[in-house]
Amino acid sequence: MTTGLPAAPTATPSRLEALVRRDVSLAPLTTLKVGGAADWYAEPESLEEMRLCLGRFRDRGLAVAVLGAGSNLLVDDAGFRGAVVCTRRLDRLVPSGEHLVAEAGVGLGRLIAAGLAHGLAGLEVLAGIPGTVGGAAVMNAGTRSGAMGPMVEEVVALEGDRVVTLCGDALGYAYRTSALGTRVVMEVVLRVPRGDVGAARRRMVTYLQERVRTQPVELPSAGCVFTNPPGHSAGRLIDEAGCKGLRRGGAQVSPRHANFIVNRGGATAAEVRWLIQEVRARVATLHGIRLDLELRTLAATSAGRCASAERAGDPPAEGHRSRSGPRDSLPGAGERHGLRVASPTPGGPGHAP
Ligand SMILES: Cc1cc2nc3c(=O)[nH]c(=O)nc-3n(C[C@H](O)[C@H](O)[C@H](O)COP(=O)(O)OP(=O)(O)OC[C@H]3O[C@@H](n4cnc5c(N)ncnc54)[C@H](O)[C@@H]3O)c2cc1C
Repeated sequence: MTTGLPAAPTATPSRLEALVRRDVSLAPLTTLKVGGAADWYAEPESLEEMRLCLGRFRDRGLAVAVLGAGSNLLVDDAGFRGAVVCTRRLDRLVPSGEHLVAEAGVGLGRLIAAGLAHGLAGLEVLAGIPGTVGGAAVMNAGTRSGAMGPMVEEVVALEGDRVVTLCGDALGYAYRTSALGTRVVMEVVLRVPRGDVGAARRRMVTYLQERVRTQPVELPSAGCVFTNPPGHSAGRLIDEAGCKGLRRGGAQVSPRHANFIVNRGGATAAEVRWLIQEVRARVATLHGIRLDLELRTLAATSAGRCASAERAGDPPAEGHRSRSGPRDSLPGAGERHGLRVASPTPGGPGHAP
C-alpha cells in the first residue's frame, strides 16, 4: 500500500550541518533519566534528512544509534562514543481509510487518538506505552491484550544506504521482537479495522487505570526490564526471589511492580546494571531460570548492544570530544561532495523524492 505522506522539506548540506550537535546529554531524552552524553546528536525533521544524516555519520566511520522516545533504553554513564539520531521530530501522520501511515517519531498516544478519531478500533491495546511508532515497531510493543505487530502492514526502513519496504513474514513479529534487526525504521503503515470506537475508548480507560494501579508510573523507569520467560511472569519470579524493593544508590526494584527498576533520584547506569545482575542471579538461584533483557542498552563504545545501532568503524581521532556549542560542523563537513545519496526504492511511500 502506498498512501504516501506530504512532501518533505529539502535537506541541503548546510541544513544538515545545522542539525548536528556535539556532546548532548542523553539522560533527559530517556524515561529512566540516567546515562551520559553522545558525542554527536541530530534530530532530523524529515525522512530525507534522517537518511542523509545517517549516511554522513556512517561515511565518517562513526558508530550510529537510533533513539525514539527513549522509553526502553538504558544509556551507559559514559554516554556514547558515536552519533545518536533521534526520530522525535519525524512526526507526520496520515490516516487513510483503514490505514494509518506514520513516521517513526509519532508518539503512540497520538497514533491511538488518530485511530479513534477515524473510527478505527484496536490500537487502544497500546495505551500507556510511552514510545514512538519506530520503537514500537522494532520492539513489537504490546501487552497481554495485544501488540503492535499484527497491525503493521508495511515498514519502510533504511538498510544501510538503501530504502527497503518490508511486510508480512519478513517483519518476523513475535513476543517483544521483530526481524527488523539493525534496519532503521522510517515509516510504518498500520491497518486497523473500523470498529466500535466507544467500546475502544472504554477499554483504553480500563487499561490506563490498570497501569496506574500496578505500575510505578510516577517515577522514572524504562518499563519492564526483563521479558517474561515462556510460561512465567518475570515480575512474579523476581518477587518470589525477594528482590522487590531492592535498592542500589538511586536505583530500586519497584516495590509496586518487581519487573520495573525505578530511578528514585540521581540513579546511575552502573547502579541499574548492578540491580539487573543481582535480580538475575537471585532468580537463577531460586528458579533455575535466566531472565532475558527487554530493556535495550546503549554502551559507550559497543554500539552493537543497542539493537538499532551500527558500528561502521572507529570514531575519528580529531577533536570529537570538544565542547563547542550546538552549531558544530558535521564530522567532515568540509567534504560536502562526500555526501552519499541513496537511491530510494521506487514507489516506497513518503521518502525522499
Ligand atoms: C512506564 C512505561 C511503561 C511501559 N509499558 C510497556 C508495555 O506495556 N509494553 C511494551 O511493549 N513496552 C512498554 N514500555 C517500553 C517502551 O515504551 C516500548 O518498548 C517502546 O516501544 C519503546 O519505544 P521508544 O520509541 O521509546 O524506543 P527507544 O527506547 O527510543 O528505543 C528502543 C529500541 O528501539 C530502537 N529504535 C527506536 N526507534 C527506532 C527506529 N525508528 N528504527 C530502528 N530502531 C529504533 C532503539 O535503537 C532501541 O534499540 C514501557 C515503558 C515505560 C517507561
